Amino acid sequence: MAHAQESARNDMTKKQTTERYTLADLEKWRKATGDVDPPIRLGVLGDPVAHSLSPQMQSAALRASKIDMQYARFHIRANELRPALRFLRALDFVGVNLTVPHKIAAFAQIDEADKFASHAGAVNTIRLRDRKLIASNTDGEGFLRAIRSEFSVDVRDLRVMILGAGGGTGHAIAWQCALENCERLVLVNRTLEKANALVEWQCALENCERLVLVNRTLEKANALVERLRPSFAGPRVLGPVARLEAVPWDEAVLRAQLADIDLLVNATPLGMNPSDFSPVPARLLAPHHMVFDAVYGSSKTSLLRAADEAGARGANGLSMLLNQGALAFQIWFDREAPIEAMRASL
Ligand code: NAP
Repeated sequence: MAHAQESARNDMTKKQTTERYTLADLEKWRKATGDVDPPIRLGVLGDPVAHSLSPQMQSAALRASKIDMQYARFHIRANELRPALRFLRALDFVGVNLTVPHKIAAFAQIDEADKFASHAGAVNTIRLRDRKLIASNTDGEGFLRAIRSEFSVDVRDLRVMILGAGGGTGHAIAWQCALENCERLVLVNRTLEKANALVEWQCALENCERLVLVNRTLEKANALVERLRPSFAGPRVLGPVARLEAVPWDEAVLRAQLADIDLLVNATPLGMNPSDFSPVPARLLAPHHMVFDAVYGSSKTSLLRAADEAGARGANGLSMLLNQGALAFQIWFDREAPIEAMRASL
């Protein structure tokens, strides 16, 4: 009884994390959080970051594993990533997650990268060791597991189109699809500059049966094709279709491409705001499509509403969030994540 009273008293004096920290807090970390107990040793950096469900999911994992630390939310703008990582290096953190828009930028600012981060050229999980930032990427494997659990299929059997392939999440998903030797991979991106990073994936792309780049400006896409062509000069010949082609991002072209697609993936942030339009309208979708929106939230995204309207199957990004988070926990603590506690928190 005395013990129970004491632990209740301790709980009352403990201070939980505040809703959101900033770069200024990281700079004066001990002053900003000296009285926070248990201490914050993990977090997610992003802009926006208010929407992230990682804090509640990872907090549930920490509680279930009886690990006495907290996971916090950090609002870090694109131009603040470098100093934020510099401050983190000197602090007693186990690690952090990175979300939009930091995944690609972080790749140039870490000390070491495992093969998942290196292949994707993007980082979603950092582990701190001896003041070094060790990068990984669990988005690709998290995506694979999500597709298996949501649609009961394996990516390797699918023809996949990724919208937003030039972003951090798109990179990780595209690389994973190539690694799985998916039947066909169609990469769609709004701007060419970011799609250029695709060139770095040449070895992974060797695994793809066919790559199609879709871009708004045909000349720009054709220029990219010229840069990529040497990667596709191999002997694999798949009937009359070219392994590599560029097509403009317009409705007629997307309609034609979608006829040969099983799984459509949204890796753009479109859908994070309830007022966002759907990246692909319902009229381009058909009942045979599986539509996976990496965006998650309490209400259906415009893309998933479009999938409903077309009679297609759809799933949001919650399952990917859960799986990439469980893999991150495993990286930080070298032990299995309490996935059921994490699932129950979402
Ligand atoms: P990012 O690195 O900033 O990349 C965003 C990508 O989307 C870029 O390719 C960008 O194209 C494209 N894009 C942005 N606005 C667009 C628009 N209005 N129209 C067309 N394309 C647009 O972001 P990220 O970190 O990859 O995150 C993307 C989304 O995935 C976020 O919503 C994030 O929450 C979600 N996500 C979910 C999970 C999960 O576990 N469920 C995991 C990771 C990410 P340009 O190259 O043309 O700029």
